Amino acid sequence: MATVFNTLKCLFAGLLLLTVTGCSMNQNYEQQPATEPVIILISLDGFSQQYLGKYPAPHIEQLIAEGVIAESMQPAFPTKTFPNHYSIVTGLYPGNHGIVENNIYDADFDAIFRMSKPAEVTHSRWWLGEPVWVTAELQGIKTGTYFYPGSEADIKGVRPSYWQAYDGKISNSERVRSVLQWLALPKTERPGFVTLYFSTIDDAGHRYGPESAQVKAAVAEVDQAIGQLIAGLKAQNLYGQVNLLLVSDHGMAAVPPEQVIVVDSLFDSSKAALSLWTPEIVSIFPKAGELESIYQQLSAGLPASARVYRKTDLPDRWHYQQSKRVAPLLIIPEPGWRLMQQSQYQRWQARPNLQAVTGSHGYDNIAPEMQAIFIGHGPAFAEGVTIPSFANIQLYNLMCAILGITPAANDGDPDWAQQLLELKQQP
Ligand code: AMP
Ligand code: ZN
Ligand code: ZN
Repeated sequence: MATVFNTLKCLFAGLLLLTVTGCSMNQNYEQQPATEPVIILISLDGFSQQYLGKYPAPHIEQLIAEGVIAESMQPAFPTKTFPNHYSIVTGLYPGNHGIVENNIYDADFDAIFRMSKPAEVTHSRWWLGEPVWVTAELQGIKTGTYFYPGSEADIKGVRPSYWQAYDGKISNSERVRSVLQWLALPKTERPGFVTLYFSTIDDAGHRYGPESAQVKAAVAEVDQAIGQLIAGLKAQNLYGQVNLLLVSDHGMAAVPPEQVIVVDSLFDSSKAALSLWTPEIVSIFPKAGELESIYQQLSAGLPASARVYRKTDLPDRWHYQQSKRVAPLLIIPEPGWRLMQQSQYQRWQARPNLQAVTGSHGYDNIAPEMQAIFIGHGPAFAEGVTIPSFANIQLYNLMCAILGITPAANDGDPDWAQQLLELKQQP
C-alpha cells in the first residue's frame, strides 16, 4: 500500500477542516500565516548545473532572481542518486552514511541493497547517520516526505509523520498537490520539513543524453511542476514565507555509443567472490588471496579511460575508503564511458538505435558534467545573490539552522550555514 496510515489520517483531517468550515484554502490560510519556519526540500534528480540558462525554466528562474543561487553544488562521490540524496539530508559523506552506492553489499548482513528491492530500501540497517527529518521529529517538528531515499525506513526508530512508499508512476502534479495539502493542515499537524522528488529530468538524461530535445522538454515539464507549487503556495498565502531549497543530486554526462569498455574479459572473474555492476562503477570483492592478481590483470588490461583502484588507494578527497561496505577493488571510468559485462555487451549491440548518445552519472565528483544545483528562496535567504560552489554535505547544517534545531554530528561546517544565513541580514 502506497500511503501510510498516518498520512491518510491527517490528510483526511485537513480535508475535513476545509469541508466543515466551508473555507477555501486561501481564506483558511490568510488566518493562519506560517510563523514557524518551514522548509520544502525539492530534489530535481539529475538536473545538471550545465542545464541552467541553457534550457528555459521560467519558474525556476523566478526563484533564482528572488533568492540565492550557488555557482554549482558539488555532489559527493559516487555521483549516484541514493548516495547523494542521503548526503544532502545527513551532512555525511557516503563513506560515512553507509549508502555507498545504489547497489551495496554488506558482509555483516551478507545481503545486497538495491534501489529496486523495497525490502532492503525500507530496512533500517542500511541507513547510518541521522537524516534531517529524524533530527526534526526528535526535536518536536513534524515532517513529511513525498518521496526521498531513506524516508521509507525507520531510522533511529523514527519515520517522517507523513511519508509515501516510492512509486515513480505518481504524476509530478499529484506530488505537488499532496504536499500543498500537507501544508494546509492545521498548525499542530502541519509539517515543518517537507520533501518533493522529481525524476523526469534524470530519466530523459539517461535515455537521450544531456544535449537532447527530450531533456529540454523534461526541464520544461519539471519547471511546470515548480510553477504549480508556486501558484499553490501563493493561494495559501505561503509563498515567500516558506523556504524552498531546490537541489539536484548530480549532473549528467553524454555517453557516445562507442565509449564502452567490456571489463570481465580483462580479468579472471572466477577469482571474485562477488561483483556488483553498474556502467559507472564495478565493485569487486575478491576471493581470499586473489586481490593482487585481479588488480594486476585489470591494471594491465584496462584502457586509459578507466582505472582500477585498490580500496586503500582511493583518493582522500572522496572520503570513501573508511566504509566497510566499499569493495576491496573498484573500477571507475572517465566521464562519458560505460563499463559492461560481455553478456550485456552482446545484448546491447543488438539494440535498435546504434548511434544514440545516452547519459550517465556516477563518475568523479569533480567532473564539470557531474555538478549539481542549489537554489534557496524564502525568509531565510537573501534576494538575488550568487554564492560560490559548495559541497552538498553542507545542507544538513543549513536546514537544521533554518528549523532552529540542533544538528547531529556530521561532515559539514556549521560556519558555512551561518554565513549563508547572514547574507539575509546584510543591506
Ligand atoms: P539512478 O539509477 O542513480 O539514475 O537513480 C534514479 C532512479 O532512482 C529514479 O529514476 C527512480 O526510479 C529511482 N528512485 C528514486 N527515488 C527512489 C526511492 N525513494 N525508492 C526507490 N527508487 C527510487
Ligand atoms: Zn539521481
Ligand atoms: Zn540517474
